[in-house]
Amino acid sequence: MASYVQDFSEGDKDQKDLLGGKGANLAEMTRLGLPVPPGFTITTDACRDYMRTGHLPPELRVEVTMAVRRLEDALGRGLGDFHDPLLVSVRSGAKFSMPGMMETVLNVGLNDASVIGLAEFSGDERFAWDSYRRLIQMFGKTVLDIDGDLFAETLDKAKAAKGVHDDVDLDAADLRQLTEQFKEIVRVESGREFPQHPREQLDLAIVAVLKSWNTERARLYRRRERIPDDLGTAVNVCSMVFGNLGPTSGTGVAFTRDPATGRTGDYGDYLVNAQGEDVVAGIRNTLSLVEMEEVDPQSYADLRQAMRRLETHYRDLCDVEFTVERGKLWMLQTRVGKRTAPAAFRIATQLVDEHLITMDEALARVSGAQLSQLMFPQFDSTAERTLLTKGMAASPGAAVGRAVFDSATAQARAAEGEDVVLVRRETNPDDLGGMIAAVGVLTARGGKTSHAAVVARGMGRTCVVGADELDIDPVARTLKVNGHAVSEGDVIAIDGSTGEVYLGAVPVVPSPVSTYLESGLDAALDQAGDDEQTADLVTSVHRILTHADEKRRLRVHANADTAEDAHRARSLGAQGIGLCRTEHMFLGERRVLVERVVLAEDDEERQSALDALLPLQRADFGALLTEMDGLPTTIRLIDPPLHEFLPDLTELSVKVALAEERGEVDAADVKLLAAVRRMHEANPMLGLRGVRLGLVVPGLFSLQIRAICEATADRLEAGGTPHAEIMVPLVGSVMELHLVRDEALRIMAEVGETRGIALDLPVGAMIELPRAALTADRIAEVAQFFSFGTNDLTQTTWGFSRDDVEGAFFPEYLENGVLTISPFETIDAKGVGRLVRIAVEEGRATRPDLTVGVCGEHGGDPESIRFFDAVGLDYVSCSPFRVPVARLEAGRAAI
Ligand code: ADP
Ligand code: MG
Ligand code: MG
Repeated sequence: MASYVQDFSEGDKDQKDLLGGKGANLAEMTRLGLPVPPGFTITTDACRDYMRTGHLPPELRVEVTMAVRRLEDALGRGLGDFHDPLLVSVRSGAKFSMPGMMETVLNVGLNDASVIGLAEFSGDERFAWDSYRRLIQMFGKTVLDIDGDLFAETLDKAKAAKGVHDDVDLDAADLRQLTEQFKEIVRVESGREFPQHPREQLDLAIVAVLKSWNTERARLYRRRERIPDDLGTAVNVCSMVFGNLGPTSGTGVAFTRDPATGRTGDYGDYLVNAQGEDVVAGIRNTLSLVEMEEVDPQSYADLRQAMRRLETHYRDLCDVEFTVERGKLWMLQTRVGKRTAPAAFRIATQLVDEHLITMDEALARVSGAQLSQLMFPQFDSTAERTLLTKGMAASPGAAVGRAVFDSATAQARAAEGEDVVLVRRETNPDDLGGMIAAVGVLTARGGKTSHAAVVARGMGRTCVVGADELDIDPVARTLKVNGHAVSEGDVIAIDGSTGEVYLGAVPVVPSPVSTYLESGLDAALDQAGDDEQTADLVTSVHRILTHADEKRRLRVHANADTAEDAHRARSLGAQGIGLCRTEHMFLGERRVLVERVVLAEDDEERQSALDALLPLQRADFGALLTEMDGLPTTIRLIDPPLHEFLPDLTELSVKVALAEERGEVDAADVKLLAAVRRMHEANPMLGLRGVRLGLVVPGLFSLQIRAICEATADRLEAGGTPHAEIMVPLVGSVMELHLVRDEALRIMAEVGETRGIALDLPVGAMIELPRAALTADRIAEVAQFFSFGTNDLTQTTWGFSRDDVEGAFFPEYLENGVLTISPFETIDAKGVGRLVRIAVEEGRATRPDLTVGVCGEHGGDPESIRFFDAVGLDYVSCSPFRVPVARLEAGRAAI
């Protein structure tokens, strides 16, 4: 029988698809013998059925009945009974954690009768009413869709009336009265009584959790994190344990290592006499685990032991949610915890040194995205700066931006291209849009496990939390701190690695990791000085990257047009140049020469312009080949349409028209205008460019080839080891390549003879048109290498013009699911990738030693690199600063 329900005691951690992450890990902890309150999981199958049909599968109701009975029998209590009632929590939990995105309802089963029973049985009346008012509050908000502020405000009023600050200072009578007020809110806002029947509460809560999968903010989060929309969430029904049963009870969250820095040793927040979300919400200041040990040594010892057990079992940093009920520890959740980029590298090598994982596993646990975060610049500690205050370092980075005080303003200003720092007392899931838009997030309240901290870390956003000296006025849009005032739009700077907040912009310097990548370990260790944490980080990066280099099959080249870029690329570990774009060499002062080539009225005129360009080009290539001595250097012949080097048609037309009006016509301008008109193209991307240009404009490619050959000869004479390769862009037919190659061979022979050396430079094709990919077997008869230009190949395969579509309709395509990610960011493996696969196979069938690489922007994208590794490319080429990322990802792809 298909089953929608599984008890915690039946599953394990590998069932995340079915049970969600929370459910699978609850099952795993149960299996390990850790103290987990019993319960059961409603599988993601139920959610998917619900999304399809709009109602709960009928079998599910029956299975829930059976599961509740099993629970009641095991605990000897009845759901919502008058005496010693069984209460449950109803908790969302999808395969991938979506912190704070979905709903949870606690204390389900309480009603007007069982609250009395609970009070009697626990001997704590205050606790019983506190639990009941929490149920009505959470249920009202999440199940009945009532504005949560109504409850929060009523609670605030009750505290104000009594002149107290803390929830815990309300007594049983106060809470009982509050419960009545909450019920009234439910009555007025939803038009119905708060449901008294426990099973009805349970069913409604289950549906609410299932529905929360598809809320706006959950969908936004998934899109960002690339989590598919059709996974669905599981629902965990877990018997309640109580952290709000007085001073020997409490609730907390903890990490087995510091998720912000990776420092060893447990780490967490504990709140005495509180329930569930009080910790994360940051409504009261929490105790550290060190302080918890002082107030409750036994529970702390039990917690430590459980955490040690979990870390050894998962062989990774784990985070846990736990509750202590009258001195007894209960584990409510665990998972392999999210961490910052520095923590990821440090923890990975720590675990290797602790003999818990291998270097291969360590490599698998870090990502190129994390490495690139570590390359961000940091604040210059020697610069003059005004410290406003210091909060907690929640997510590293150095962010400078204009202060904004709400999510909508953050999004609006960011859309106008401004850098903003979102400043909030605390964040909640509705702030997600603003957090995405901002360069940094600053809050006054909450710890390292608060919503702001968790979400910011997850998306790699710089974040400082708990800066409690900040006096934030969200209505006036100002903050006051230590005698300074900051208004909306004022620039502030936050340091997510130290928690420091500065007034005004602070200059930044290279991070130690980028120092390491560019100048080596010793230089980075020098920069780190006595800062052990930083020294440890650069050493970890070094160890892991070295391992990646040993493991990877793919070579990593760089796209670099100048000797300067080439130098940078080489110091970052590039093993060659995969793409040198030569068009940049025709700009600036040389533009006039190009103009003369275009405007030439006869061969002689054209040749003289080309001759003038020759020494310039030769010098460019000479410098490049010097820098890349001994390494392959692939030079692409000129690619863009020539009119890109000419004045703009409209501007020039206006200029000539105005001149005519004044009767001061300039003959040269008129001639130029005629040429610009002649060369104007409706769709230049598909027009006279690449090899077509080379075959149509006499002498252009020849000039470049000659310059490459002469530069090579120069280098050889100087005792160098140049490895220039000639790459022909936009080839669609083998005949095009034939013509260029014949010309190249002629020039090689000529230069070779003049200089008395043998020149044999490889000539290859860029594969960036579907026709080239589909006739790769023919093209490989002539081409000595292929290089995929995946940007153009994506444009021509999809029929997208990148500049026109990305802003115009990609947002909508991503929204409605036609695309899950831009095919310009990650290669479309099914379509464009299929062409790549075909071209590699058929090209190599013709020429087994064909070298194949990629030089589009995809060459630096982690997911695309995996694909290129899988289809057997020899190298990827990417921009210089992506080279370390590509090295790491190529290593990860190989294990
Ligand atoms: P989230 O995924 O947002 O953390 P959870 O389902 O984990 O949501 O629950 C929210 C809070 O309620 C957590 O602090 C959790 O520890 C607490 N909680 C959940 N179930 C129980 C329970 N059965 N007894 C006590 N506290 C619970
Ligand atoms: Mg949780
Ligand atoms: Mg191209």
